[in-house]
Amino acid sequence: MDIIQSYCGTGLKAQFHCYNGSLDDALEFMKMNHFISFTGNITFKKSDGLRDILKHIDLNHIMLETDSPFMTPVPYRGKRNEPSYVKYVAQQIAEIHKLSLEDVGRITSLNAFRFFGIGNAPKTSFTYLLENSLYINVTNRCNADCTFCRRKEDPFLRGYNLGMKKSEEPTAEVYISEIGDPKKYDEIVFCGYGEPTIRWDVVREVAKYVKANGGKTRMNTNGHGNIINKKDITPEMKDIIDVISISLNSYDPKQYAELMQVSETHFDEMKNFARLAKQCVNKVVMSVVSLDEVEIEKSRKVVEDEIGVEFRIRTYF
Ligand code: SF4
Repeated sequence: MDIIQSYCGTGLKAQFHCYNGSLDDALEFMKMNHFISFTGNITFKKSDGLRDILKHIDLNHIMLETDSPFMTPVPYRGKRNEPSYVKYVAQQIAEIHKLSLEDVGRITSLNAFRFFGIGNAPKTSFTYLLENSLYINVTNRCNADCTFCRRKEDPFLRGYNLGMKKSEEPTAEVYISEIGDPKKYDEIVFCGYGEPTIRWDVVREVAKYVKANGGKTRMNTNGHGNIINKKDITPEMKDIIDVISISLNSYDPKQYAELMQVSETHFDEMKNFARLAKQCVNKVVMSVVSLDEVEIEKSRKVVEDEIGVEFRIRTYF
């Protein structure tokens, strides 16, 4: 638990200006909740190594800066830098992360607000677009309280504000109207900073709409849906949820309980949920977060050999 607690941090945030360090250091800084900031240096011809690092920088931790009058980006390299050239730094980030310039603007503006307090937090997004999947921000509530979860103090993701009070949670109709034609998206994903099965009735109604209109659905869950709803909800997922993604978090019930701050019995309940879900949906995926103290191979064995579903590793930041 010591390592986990050190990840939780002290609330101190730092910005690593004009980043030119190693990938390992950058990954450590992000685990500590710090920000990695780039200037015109990522546009230079000889900066392939830095651009490789940039690929691995989580967008929740990225900032751009002018560093004017220095570090002039290509195509003005060699001339005096000025703030308006920051768009070339943004373009490089957009290209590497396969985003639009608008995405980079939204993400880095929010990160500047989170770090410096400049501007305002954006309005809560009930739905949010990542690549071509539309995510449904169902709730901020959760029955667990994971040590690595940001939902309370920092509910932001890729420039979107996912924080909401219970009284602000929208109805199924609001989500349906924001979705429109679900065929426009690769999939509709029920996932925010909270546990979606807490509002299973709303998820079910929206999922029914999506399937009736030719879309695909995925629900990301902690696998406690049957405990939360005090009944087996997996048969209700048949024909309306295509993929269930469950956070395994650890192969060890004790560590699982410590990480999620739930009782150890939740571990067996979660595995049982996965087995039941397997009978009712097309695909079940179980994942662990890449924390140093989580034994990946033992977790993989539980998922693949014991439960017989797909295993995935999630990056921790
Ligand atoms: S289960 Fe998910 S939403 Fe709930 S506390 Fe853990 S990480 Fe946060």
